[in-house]
Amino acid sequence: MLTLPPWLQRQTQGVVNCYACQKLVSITAPTCTHCGSQQPGLWGYGRHFRKFHHQGGFLALITWGCVALYLLTLLVNVRGVRTEMPLEILVPDTSSLLMFGATGEIPLFTLHRWWTLLTAAWLHGHVFHLGFNLGWIRYLMPLALDFYGAARLVVLYTGSAIVAALLSSVVAHYGSGLPPLLQGAYISVGASGALFGLFGALVAHGRQTGSKALEETMALYAGLGFILGFTLGSVDNWAHLGGFLGGFALAYVPGLRSRQPQRLYEVVLALVCLGATALSLVVSVLHWWWIQ
Ligand SMILES: [Zn+2]
Repeated sequence: MLTLPPWLQRQTQGVVNCYACQKLVSITAPTCTHCGSQQPGLWGYGRHFRKFHHQGGFLALITWGCVALYLLTLLVNVRGVRTEMPLEILVPDTSSLLMFGATGEIPLFTLHRWWTLLTAAWLHGHVFHLGFNLGWIRYLMPLALDFYGAARLVVLYTGSAIVAALLSSVVAHYGSGLPPLLQGAYISVGASGALFGLFGALVAHGRQTGSKALEETMALYAGLGFILGFTLGSVDNWAHLGGFLGGFALAYVPGLRSRQPQRLYEVVLALVCLGATALSLVVSVLHWWWIQ
């Protein structure tokens, strides 16, 4: 008999913590007896969602997803891997990055691979790039998770990544006459746009709750990140700005504000974001093979 893996198994009896108010309810209850939310047990998958939220499931997904995709971009063309000392160690071949969904002016405006707005944040250009971004995300994510909850954070993270990629690509397309330091990206990868989105969302949370310390600390970190980006070179500064503005603005959308109980539509929206990202990765690889 076929046994489903634990993360696909549906709970059909017993109790579960409501996804909105966290209080115990029957898994079969259509509405929460404490807060009135619909489907408090998420159709039997409430326990999985709880792991995603309380046990750092989203953080683990980002970490292992980015590591796995980085290794894949290296392995798919080992001969193309290069090292450009001192910081750019183990750089995947550009065509490998494009294949898995690098974004930027060329993928969007020339190749019309618009789904790369979703995939580029999961790819990285070298070991230091990957380690730096994941280190910062692992530092910021628990804070952001506490304030926004897992579902809302998935939406904020994905939205910031999209705004980051879009701004940088549009600037590259229409601003080719700008000085080199101010030009957008022709090919871009990395989670730093989404990372700056976390900075933006945390600054917004500080402003909304009157927490000056949080607001100023996160604004300072983001400011230092911008300066570092300009000094390092080959950094997509417009993506950093776009990600920050995206995270900040999305955190002011009424439904996405921090410190509210999670709502069912946010859980569904988060699943749509993750599903669309996974699908975009598959489409990206298949389309790349098709056009070669
Ligand atoms: Zn409830």
